Amino acid sequence: MHFKRSLTLTLVLCTVVAFHLETAVVQATELGDTPWTYDRLIPGAKGPDEWETLNGNWSCNGRKQSPINVITDQVMQNDPTNPPNLRLTVAGNKPITGELRNNGYAPTFFIGEELTVKLAGGLLQESYFLKQFHFHFGCNDTVGSEHTIDGNTYPIELPMANSSTSPANIALEKIAQLLNNVVDENGNHVVTQSAGIHIEDFAPLLVSPDVADRFYKYKGSLTTPGCYESVTWFVMNNHPQITEKEILAFRNLKSSKAHVQGPNAGRMCNNFRNTMPLNGRQIHSNIVLS
Ligand SMILES: [Zn+2]
Repeated sequence: MHFKRSLTLTLVLCTVVAFHLETAVVQATELGDTPWTYDRLIPGAKGPDEWETLNGNWSCNGRKQSPINVITDQVMQNDPTNPPNLRLTVAGNKPITGELRNNGYAPTFFIGEELTVKLAGGLLQESYFLKQFHFHFGCNDTVGSEHTIDGNTYPIELPMANSSTSPANIALEKIAQLLNNVVDENGNHVVTQSAGIHIEDFAPLLVSPDVADRFYKYKGSLTTPGCYESVTWFVMNNHPQITEKEILAFRNLKSSKAHVQGPNAGRMCNNFRNTMPLNGRQIHSNIVLS
């Protein structure tokens, strides 16, 4: 699993499912009143190593934290002849519309409330509804993803949505265009019907059976404070591509909440948490491992 550095870069795609999705996502996106940052190696910067000390209600020092490094030869292989399909569908096959926001921590796309985007399959006992997706990305190509696979880091990670074999992805291209409207923090852009992303745009990421149904699944946590351990992660094994131009749109995003010092001061990039110990957790996969 390697990523290309020349013309196109690849993503890690994840879907995170919470047993109490509303609570978890609200907690993760509203982020409470306790300030925190992604700054590392700066004492007192309220970065990842200090998160647990910032709020007594947070679980950032728990034993089932995310992200993790997936070591592929240690995963438990579930029946590869009968892969449990993970499917995302939009009721009425409407375009995905909503609001794209720069909240200072990640560009986040909130799905419109009138829209039902349903996630089902993949050994899930019930259906879940997609509320938002967002991006973690690096200031350069060598870092960015939260999850790593056999120690490999990817320049960008998209939790909540999945994979592709085609080099160009319309959904990512549209999002990169929309980011120009939310460069500054608290910038909001309403994504109307005409600017919406059709499920067909996401189809190569989410629906193609030969790529989207290959995942690593494990029990973990939210990767932002309070790091609640109430979620199941699907880390997709397929890595769609993003162009240099598209990733630049991400790197142009500004933030007052991260990186107060150093060369990336004022920029949102490097908004990822480092991998956390597995602590004996089992990773399941429906990938045929050689
Ligand atoms: Zn995230």
